[in-house]
Amino acid sequence: MSAATDHRHRHLDRIEEVRTGRHAEKVGYPIGIRATEVVRTAMVGTGLLRVTLGGAGAAGFEAHAPDEHVKLIFPDPDGTLRLPERNGAMLRWPRPALVSREYTVRRYDPVAREIDIDIAPHDGGLASDWAHAARPGDVMHLAGPPGGLIVPDSYDRYLLAGDITALPAIARRLEEFPRSAKGWAFIEVADAAQEIELSAPEGFEVRWLHRCGLPAGTGDALVRAVTGVSVPEGERAYVWVAGEAGQIKPLRRWVRDELRLAKADHDITGYWKRGVADFDEDEH
Ligand SMILES: Cc1cc2nc3c(=O)[nH]c(=O)nc-3n(C[C@H](O)[C@H](O)[C@H](O)COP(=O)(O)OP(=O)(O)OC[C@H]3O[C@@H](n4cnc5c(N)ncnc54)[C@H](O)[C@@H]3O)c2cc1C
Repeated sequence: MSAATDHRHRHLDRIEEVRTGRHAEKVGYPIGIRATEVVRTAMVGTGLLRVTLGGAGAAGFEAHAPDEHVKLIFPDPDGTLRLPERNGAMLRWPRPALVSREYTVRRYDPVAREIDIDIAPHDGGLASDWAHAARPGDVMHLAGPPGGLIVPDSYDRYLLAGDITALPAIARRLEEFPRSAKGWAFIEVADAAQEIELSAPEGFEVRWLHRCGLPAGTGDALVRAVTGVSVPEGERAYVWVAGEAGQIKPLRRWVRDELRLAKADHDITGYWKRGVADFDEDEH
């Protein structure tokens, strides 16, 4: 067995172990860089622009977890395209940092070799503008996914919450849950036209929260809805939240102080921040 095959088995085995265990864990995959081509674009509701990427470069893509993400790599402002280099199962990133944005893998179809990413268009965004202008045949380089958050099926309840940037991950997680899973999903959108069809298990309460004219990333509807949940006594819950960094901040305290969840039983991530381009939570 070659070293590459061996590595491949290792992360797949680990994913299986975590999936059938008690606590969630981020599992790394061998990370690649690939040139893909835009196959088509389509709106999903009025709030998400789906870009389907394919071509020979999409073959062998690693997709195992609902909130895994790829980095879209853009040319530098002077038009030069720099790319990370493969370094075994990792990537070596050039310095100064290249221009990239992160998006959830909404779907990977290994037979059609298609990768869907759903982009929430907004004013003045590099990736958002690219998605608007994307046409079949346009080339986009993707790095990743570097890994994924594997959440076991053994929790009694799951609480998923976020804004439209979190909707691709929430939609995929709801689809991939066993049909016996129970919990809540709260999604903040601008209005009813941004709601999309979801395939949630019957035991899920799905609630759409409308911003009613407030700008994206403002208002406390999401926080109020989430903190209104009470987990039945004696049940184990897993909480996953993503969205605008400032907006979801109060939920970190709530999960810690009210739900008293262990670190491995929740994941709360700022996906973007008002007024900050290319926001990276780890740098703030
Ligand atoms: C792991 C991960 C997964 C993600 N998955 C998705 C996904 O599936 N779909 C998705 O749409 N986003 C997703 N995001 C968020 C996305 O990466 C950011 O919104 C990113 O900033 C968009 O890049 P941009 O080039 O369009 O805007 P930038 O150039 O980064 O930002 C320009 C300006 O736009 C503002 N801005 C950024 N995003 C938004 C927004 N959504 N609404 C309003 N204003 C905004 C910024 O505050 C800034 O002022 C994800 C983020 C992470 C970390």
